[in-house]
Amino acid sequence: MTVVVTGSAGFIGSILVDELLSRGERVIGVDRRVQPARPGLLVLTADLVDWPDELLDAALEGADAVFHLAGCPGVRDGAADSVIDIGDRRRRDNVDATARVLAVVPGHVPVVVASSSSVYGGARGRPSRESDALRPLGGYARSKVAAEALCQQRLRTGGRVAIARPFTVVGEGQRADMAIARWLRAAALGRPLQVFGSLRRSRDLTDVRDAVRVLIALAERQACGPVNVGTGRPYTLAQIVAAISEITCTRVDTVVTPADHAEPADTRADTRHLRETVGFVPQTDLTAVVARQLAASTAVGALSP
Ligand code: NAD
Repeated sequence: MTVVVTGSAGFIGSILVDELLSRGERVIGVDRRVQPARPGLLVLTADLVDWPDELLDAALEGADAVFHLAGCPGVRDGAADSVIDIGDRRRRDNVDATARVLAVVPGHVPVVVASSSSVYGGARGRPSRESDALRPLGGYARSKVAAEALCQQRLRTGGRVAIARPFTVVGEGQRADMAIARWLRAAALGRPLQVFGSLRRSRDLTDVRDAVRVLIALAERQACGPVNVGTGRPYTLAQIVAAISEITCTRVDTVVTPADHAEPADTRADTRHLRETVGFVPQTDLTAVVARQLAASTAVGALSP
């Protein structure tokens, strides 16, 4: 099997590559960021939106399965003066890049595309199911809806594509802009933890090791259409802050600031379709995953001043 992973230098992509390599797969990792060489990994440093690229097309045309994780993640728009720029980047990296992958990978080859739970716009009093109407709250979520529309087009023409909708993914290597990474750094520096919105808000957290097991199972089973990647058992932000305090053995203070309009108050996956499709539902041990994330961040010096 030759498997292509796009976004292989990223948080989820690098753990996915590790897992595939440990299973003996031959992996081609595509990312515009430079990534470390690993035995069994063929690195292709390329931007998915730069045409033409014969090497990239050959990799995508010849793959037995493709995991498309490359994208511009993050629901927050950031400072007002960067909104136009972030909009362009989301279109390019979330929509145009997905269009390229789907155009080149033959229809019979299983493709797993990373969409996002953000397409639901939050839990709204009950877990979000794959059949729910999509209610994106911001530009990131809208770009994922547009990427999903491209996937639906592939399905309509008889092609294969699983649309993974990960809820918040946690664990070693988490992006620096995500809550647990930010809070571990703040705790290490003795600063208050910045909480957006309220400590009562909640997030369905998936351990990155489980998230990649789900992605691999989706490809193995040649699943088609949207599938939630979550646990169905959210944690409140207060519980996550408590876990940070426990694992770092520090008394942490919090400062609550207004949440971005694009951030839903609560997220929670309905996991029935996930269980039917891959045969299991992840469970997240919050303190264990925060401890692993702390150890990994310390090892790479990410918590140093
Ligand atoms: P990440 O930013 O760590 O990784 C994405 C990688 O894609 C980066 O290494 C980046 O260089 C690469 N990339 C982006 N655009 C590219 C392009 N045009 N050509 C080549 N490489 C490109 O993000 P992540 O947290 O690992 O997320 C992976 C995917 O999962 C994203 O699509 C994201 O939207 C989605 N997702 C993530 C989460 C989460 O909790 N992390 C939740 C829901 C969905």
